[in-house]
Amino acid sequence: MNSRRDVLKGLILGPVFFGGLSHSNAKENYRYNIVIIGGGFAGATFAKSMRLLQPFITISLLEPNEHYYSCPMGAEYLVGKRSLNSLRFSYEALAKLYNISILKDEALAIDSISKTIHTQQNNVIRYDRCIVACGVGFKYNTISGYSRVDSIKSPHAWTGGKQQKLLRDKILGIPDGGVLLMSVPVDDYKCPPGPYERASLIAEYFKAHKPKSRIVILDAKNRFPKQAQFELAWRKLYRYETKNPIIEWISEADGGAVVGYNSKNMELMTTKYRFEGSVINIIPPQQAASFARSNNLTGTQDWCPVNTQTMESLLIPNIHVIGDCAYAEMLPKSAFAAACQARVCAIAISRIIQDLPPLDPEFANVCYSLCANDYAISVYIKYLRNSHNNILEISDLQNTPISSNDEQYVKEFSSAHQMFSSLTREAFL
Ligand SMILES: Cc1cc2nc3c(=O)[nH]c(=O)nc-3n(C[C@H](O)[C@H](O)[C@H](O)COP(=O)(O)OP(=O)(O)OC[C@H]3O[C@@H](n4cnc5c(N)ncnc54)[C@H](O)[C@@H]3O)c2cc1C
Repeated sequence: MNSRRDVLKGLILGPVFFGGLSHSNAKENYRYNIVIIGGGFAGATFAKSMRLLQPFITISLLEPNEHYYSCPMGAEYLVGKRSLNSLRFSYEALAKLYNISILKDEALAIDSISKTIHTQQNNVIRYDRCIVACGVGFKYNTISGYSRVDSIKSPHAWTGGKQQKLLRDKILGIPDGGVLLMSVPVDDYKCPPGPYERASLIAEYFKAHKPKSRIVILDAKNRFPKQAQFELAWRKLYRYETKNPIIEWISEADGGAVVGYNSKNMELMTTKYRFEGSVINIIPPQQAASFARSNNLTGTQDWCPVNTQTMESLLIPNIHVIGDCAYAEMLPKSAFAAACQARVCAIAISRIIQDLPPLDPEFANVCYSLCANDYAISVYIKYLRNSHNNILEISDLQNTPISSNDEQYVKEFSSAHQMFSSLTREAFL
């Protein structure tokens, strides 16, 4: 039987875990049009996987931005450990090496009857299959006094690029003794352990450079992923649960859920308390991005329901939804899960093109969180699809053991960086 490390190593080297891949040599498919909306981890990984399966079809990727900025490893940038350039990826390799047609444009509307997409630059693009991979949108109006414009003064940095830079400047500029308040939403949001990784690296930065500063996490939940592992690290490294903590975590039950924001006084109001901060980082509650919602792909829900065998929308035929905007119960919203869905979807469509029956896919998620330099933790989860209820049920779950020694944390730290290289290479390079 494989050890946990072998399993993780295998996934890092090549997270493709399906049987029955077959390439089509059918040149007659050359007119088949696949249009992808969104060039994040899901859309870019799909484009490459689809091309490898079907060399002759037309694949177009609609994305309004010239570059993609990764959120994974973004916490290192926020505290001055890496450059923004190291998080930035272009679509050049997809165009040049994989013959993907990159259209710098924003999709506005889908007409599912004529099978066309209408774009911001007045293009109308025909598709046989459309892949929606447009990520998340933010529910700004759920915290009283907080709106989209406030995300300049109190950045969420839950998207890459500009938002990351805004928060980084504030963190690096905080006076010694200043308090950073972080508001964390209820599930579902992208990267469930992300806030706690960010808090850890900010605490590490404060400990080294602003020893009188601290970070207070105000949480709308009572539990969070890898909690035992994070809290162990915080106790060891950041005086957690002492009288003089660098990190404090206030759960919903203890009055942590943020309900109001006062930009002038830099205050957050929770169900029980009022907090003042030098820097405020509000991570708003989330839902599928506006394109998915305005095109009826969410129905009455926040996310787009899909058939987990093919990732085809349960609401509109010939449209597949992958990545963060999809609701594939019980997959979390991560780059790893997005890439996994992208491959499941590419294989399903390739088989449709070849008139083959669908396969039974397997899904996995591996998520690393950095707690400090040379100290990371991880979770590996495998999912099996229940064909009766469409749910992806957990068949294996392995966390970094609580009894790990320093050497194991160093190895996890190195694996976290390898995983980042692997995910970005498989999507963009
Ligand atoms: C702080 C943080 C840390 C994270 N760390 C990790 C980690 O360590 N490991 C991990 O696996 N995951 C991590 N994640 C999660 C990961 O970033 C997301 O799950 C992943 O980016 C999802 O990919 P996606 O392609 O679905 O969405 P996105 O990456 O958000 O991409 C969506 C794309 O769609 C485009 N788009 C939107 N609307 C349109 C439209 N109308 N027309 C055309 N294009 C459109 C956008 O411009 C964007 O490029 C982290 C996330 C955050 C916020």
